[in-house]
Amino acid sequence: MTGFLYIVATPIGNLEDITLRALRILKEIDLILVEDSRVTKKLLMHYGINKSILTYHQHSPISVKNRIVSELSSGKNLALVSDAGTPGISDPGNELIDFVLQSLPDAKIIPIPGASAISASLSVCGLNVNKFVFLGFLPKKKRKKLFAWFKEGNLSTGSRRGIAFAFYESPKRILKTLDFLQEEFGSDKKVFIARELTKLHESLYRGTIEKVRNILEKERIRGEIVVVVD
Ligand code: SAM
Repeated sequence: MTGFLYIVATPIGNLEDITLRALRILKEIDLILVEDSRVTKKLLMHYGINKSILTYHQHSPISVKNRIVSELSSGKNLALVSDAGTPGISDPGNELIDFVLQSLPDAKIIPIPGASAISASLSVCGLNVNKFVFLGFLPKKKRKKLFAWFKEGNLSTGSRRGIAFAFYESPKRILKTLDFLQEEFGSDKKVFIARELTKLHESLYRGTIEKVRNILEKERIRGEIVVVVD
């Protein structure tokens, strides 16, 4: 019988942000697929879990994917984790699932939900995010075209007013990105920025683009960032 492939959410910083079910699955399965073994080993050591691991990431050769399929075919149960948060959200998790399903269409893929930087950000942003679009990492080029979609909505074509958007951004680009958003949407547009969620230097910034930009410009911006735009 084909084994199970569990897609396991892990913490985005604070090691306590992992579910009881995730810990049980990680203890029970045969092999853990990890993005960066150094990152996941810290988590496993913290919870006293000693398991075989195999590195799987964006640049893994086909031989690694074939090995994963063959382990599942032989009945082994596997867990896929990423460096942080929920696999498949802005990382190559779904690419692996697609590959597995091509060889094993009946493979059992089981989600073990938990932390994600996007859901944590939306939950505290204080903006109306009843409807939102998640853009992952913004493309470096053709951003104008992407945002035109939000600007051009009207009632006859289906209004896009009231649809917030969120994306992941690097600290190196955040000021430039805020400048761009200001040009596109005006300096009064409200934004929310989450930096280093659940970590020692967690900081949340709320206000107009202009206000948030001024604050960030004075700080040395480091760490991981999520942006939500009203
Ligand atoms: N799969 C992950 C998830 O569920 O959140 C996201 C992986 S993506 C490769 C990494 C990006 O997520 C970072 O560049 C950052 O934008 C965001 N991120 C991850 N951890 C974060 C944290 N603790 N605080 C803020 N943003 C975070």
